[in-house]
Amino acid sequence: MRKADRGRSGPTAMLKRQLGSVVSTSKIERFRTSFDGSKLSFLPDAVVNVRETSDIAATLALANEFRVPVTVRGGGTSLTGSASPRRNGWVLDLSRLNRIRIDAESGMAFVEAGAVVAKIQAAAKRKGWFYPPDPASKDYCTIGGTVACNAGGMHGLSYGVTRDYVLALEGYLPTGERVRWGRPLFKYSAGFNLRDLWIGSEGMLGVVTNIVVRLVPLPPARLMIVAAFSSDTDAFRAARKLLAARLSPSVCEFIGRNCMRCLDRAAHNMLVFSHYRPLLLVELSGERPDVNARALLLRLWASSNAITWEEAGTDSRAEEFWAARRGVSGSLSVFGKGKLNQDIVLPRANYAAFGRYLECLEAESGLPLPVFGHLGDGNLHVNVMYDPDKPQSCRMAEKTVGQLMKKVVSLGGAISGEHGIGLTKSQFLRLEHSEPEIAAMRAVKRALDPKGILNPGKMFEPFDLSKHRRVVASMPWDGA
Ligand SMILES: Cc1cc2nc3c(=O)[nH]c(=O)nc-3n(C[C@H](O)[C@H](O)[C@H](O)COP(=O)(O)OP(=O)(O)OC[C@H]3O[C@@H](n4cnc5c(N)ncnc54)[C@H](O)[C@@H]3O)c2cc1C
Repeated sequence: MRKADRGRSGPTAMLKRQLGSVVSTSKIERFRTSFDGSKLSFLPDAVVNVRETSDIAATLALANEFRVPVTVRGGGTSLTGSASPRRNGWVLDLSRLNRIRIDAESGMAFVEAGAVVAKIQAAAKRKGWFYPPDPASKDYCTIGGTVACNAGGMHGLSYGVTRDYVLALEGYLPTGERVRWGRPLFKYSAGFNLRDLWIGSEGMLGVVTNIVVRLVPLPPARLMIVAAFSSDTDAFRAARKLLAARLSPSVCEFIGRNCMRCLDRAAHNMLVFSHYRPLLLVELSGERPDVNARALLLRLWASSNAITWEEAGTDSRAEEFWAARRGVSGSLSVFGKGKLNQDIVLPRANYAAFGRYLECLEAESGLPLPVFGHLGDGNLHVNVMYDPDKPQSCRMAEKTVGQLMKKVVSLGGAISGEHGIGLTKSQFLRLEHSEPEIAAMRAVKRALDPKGILNPGKMFEPFDLSKHRRVVASMPWDGA
């Protein structure tokens, strides 16, 4: 607990008196919320397990009065440290605010911020609707967290990302006033669009409590093809051809050569079929006649570009492949404990040039660099694997990430497509943004959060990863 916050009169004691058992200062609770998927840990002084939105108002009022840092937490799956309470203070855990209501007539979901994304998708599906944003962490991450990070996923290529579905947000400004941005309407143009400013603001500009998202009709037909290639670069080239052919696949996922070595028996069928070669997983969806027409061209593409390919004849066979794809991230622990996960974005024209560069970088660094991700929208997860117990390996891993980021920007790409900046990418923000751009962002932050209490120490302040060891903890999604 911070020095200034000991005893019966400190702000944490006041918070406890006001909110009662909702506030926990137990060691276990503080440790549980001290880190996210990045495993960068900073102990908070207290955790507010929010039951009613009024708990948030009370917390923010006290936090502003005493300048206590507040970090909002959803599912804690962030891979950047954005949910780790960098400056300690209080964690607002919103995971219990999780009601879901589907309005089947309007095709909208009215959800609380702590609702888990997979549960929203399941509720929508029961009423014949589809909520497309589908991060691989969807069984664990909350809709509030995905709004704060503008999360994407496998369907990004044809369906877009979280931002494309949010109609309205409700919540609190960092100063504690309740606000609504947007309305449950399909069109809205009244005033500045602060709804979109909140989306992707990584919990630094407001606390989201309620969200209205639009849904789309469930596509009646789907068809999936898995194709294997002789090298990652060959798969990149083939993907570029596929995307240029205007077949409008709804999904085009990539699993690189190194990742295939990590997949376990759950992915047995995929491994047998591909002989551990890099894969593209392609899905078409839509009305049956349209899917059938495009399927002919997709089969032609597979026959002329892949070494071997398979069409998933049934939904359950397709789900086997998708489950294996979702498990890739967790399976990389086969390479060892240390992983620096990146989520870079590339322009299509430079896919193959990037593939060749990665081969050189892997040889030069001596570190495995398994790659997988959403090749359809150019968003690739490059993972720098290292041994955290060996200082030389740690230094090489950081150097490699730095080289990678510079190359990505020089190829016209972006340092993050969906995870955001948080702590782990804060040192690269200036590769992507000029000083006037960063000054403009900071001015927005100051205007909405004059006391700087909401999620401080992130994004703009370069964070030195080499000075922080990650906690050893097993998360539910590790090794999934
Ligand atoms: C195995 C694995 C696979 C992943 N795959 C993907 C993927 O395919 N696509 C993708 O985009 N991401 C992916 N991620 C990253 C992560 O799941 C997303 O960033 C997700 O959006 C985080 O949601 P969360 O509820 O866990 O948020 P948290 O981790 O709890 O928080 C993330 C950020 O959002 C803020 N926040 C949370 N809730 C709120 C709220 N209600 N109001 C304001 N701010 C809030 C936090 O302060 C923090 O800054 C993956 C992570 C893992 C572990």
